[in-house]
Amino acid sequence: MKVYNLACPLDHRFEGWFASEADCLAQQEKGILACPVCDSTEIVRMPSAPHIAKSSSTELSISKPESTNLSGDVVALTGQDHSQLEAQVQAAFLKGMRDLMGRSEDVGNSFAEEARKIHYKEAPERSIRGQTTLDEAESLRDEGIEVMAIPLIPAFKNTLQ
Ligand SMILES: [Zn+2]
Repeated sequence: MKVYNLACPLDHRFEGWFASEADCLAQQEKGILACPVCDSTEIVRMPSAPHIAKSSSTELSISKPESTNLSGDVVALTGQDHSQLEAQVQAAFLKGMRDLMGRSEDVGNSFAEEARKIHYKEAPERSIRGQTTLDEAESLRDEGIEVMAIPLIPAFKNTLQ
């Protein structure tokens, strides 16, 4: 029996148990081997030293903002920039965020109100950011308004000042 430390492209780490190394390779090739978290079949084998497998658990929370404790800061993405911004965010979360923050208008506490105005064409279309409650962000999403929650990462906040 062989135990391998495996990881997917999103850096989810898990263990796989195989009859042999050949069995592991065969499962990899057939695409049977999938990440238990995101179902990706692009699985790579990690070095088996236990301290390496632990090293990047903090990075995971940065690249997956939905799963972190959100402070309530929310940005609405409107208009054509959306897919472009999304790609940037995926490629380099912090860089993309900084860029987005730089290009969006800070509307502070009137975020939800302003996002609705833009959505219903009562205000010029643009990217905005500001504070709102998670409940409010949820109802904006229900109305079809793209809202993205941003965790406040201290290092990231500092670079904005
Ligand atoms: Zn995964």
